Parts: sequence; structure tokens; C-alpha cells
Amino acid sequence: MDKQRAIDELRQRLEDADVTPELRKTATQLVMGDGNLDADIVFIGEAPGKNEDEQGVPFVGAAGKFLDEMLASVNLKRDDIYITNIVKYRPPNNRDPLAEEKRAFWPYLVRQLQIINPKVVVTLGRHSMEYFLPGMYISQIHGQAKRIAFDDHKVVIVPLYHPAAALYNGSLRETLLADFSHIPAIIKQLS
Ligand code: URA
Repeated sequence: MDKQRAIDELRQRLEDADVTPELRKTATQLVMGDGNLDADIVFIGEAPGKNEDEQGVPFVGAAGKFLDEMLASVNLKRDDIYITNIVKYRPPNNRDPLAEEKRAFWPYLVRQLQIINPKVVVTLGRHSMEYFLPGMYISQIHGQAKRIAFDDHKVVIVPLYHPAAALYNGSLRETLLADFSHIPAIIKQLS
């Protein structure tokens, strides 16, 4: 089956399963993901915010603009990557996603990654990192490539700070840009 059809089916399954009825009630729509399904690299954020909820596309607000800037700094475009979130409905008032919400969406994220089959997964912020690298602290491991067993094969995880956290924090911004600059070499090593 082609990847687009598999993703469309997964989206339908997710909607039918109604995994977080409370979030679905307050959100406008499910935000599945965006970008290239054949990408070597997938970025995973936290949950849609206001703009994402309205447009149905992840990372289109202020954090998304900064992410686009960082992608450009390493000669990548949205079309070269795929991007999604662990939680796919906007939490009310952009509150942090709850543990049970992340848990409810996790099997669907696993399936999404099985379909795309990337070499590298970049987690943005601790909410998506903790599922791939449990018990680790982002302040200690940000920017470090970690090879983990995922599903029945190995995948490289690169945990980064969330771009929204870096928007108004100059030193975090510098850290995130520096971590980002290593991404091309990480991808190259794997090909
Ligand atoms: N922050 C996220 O984590 N995801 C989005 O899609 C937008 C902002």
C-alpha cells in the first residue's frame, strides 16, 4: 500500500477510535502531520497550538517559523522532512499534554513512524522525547544522537529543545541552533 494511503487510513482509525474525547470536543480538527512521507528525518513536537488547530497543519505559528529558519540554516525545507506531534488535538489554552493523552496517541505515532520509516527522529521538547528516551533529561542529552531499538529495528533519536521554549530565551536559542547544525552530519553518517 502506498504511504499516503496508509497515513490516511491511520488518520481515519485515529478519528474512529476517539482516543481523547475531551480534546476532540475542544479542538477544531485532528492535526495528523505534514511533509514528505519518504523523508529520512521526522520531527516530533508536543501538540498543536492555536494556528495549527485552525489550519490543520503542525508548526505553522511562531514556533513553526523559527523551526523553518533552523531548517533553512542547514539547507533543509519542509518538503525534505516530515513533521508531526505526539498529541494530535490541541489541548485547551495550549496547556501541556497530559500523561494519559500522550499514552493514548503513542501507538498511533509508532504506526506513523512504521509507515514513514525514517532513519532519524528528532524530538522537539521533553513531551515527545520521554517516550523514546525514558528517564533522560533534555538538559543533559540535547543534541546527542542516540541509537535505540524501535519496533523491530534501530532508529537514531536526536533530542532537541522545543523551538517555542527558545523563542524568548536567547541562550536556549543559541543552543538549539548549535544542536541543529549537527543534523546534516548525523544524517550523512547513516547513509
Ligand atoms: N508546538 C508543537 O509542539 N507543535 C505544533 O504543531 C506547534 C507548536
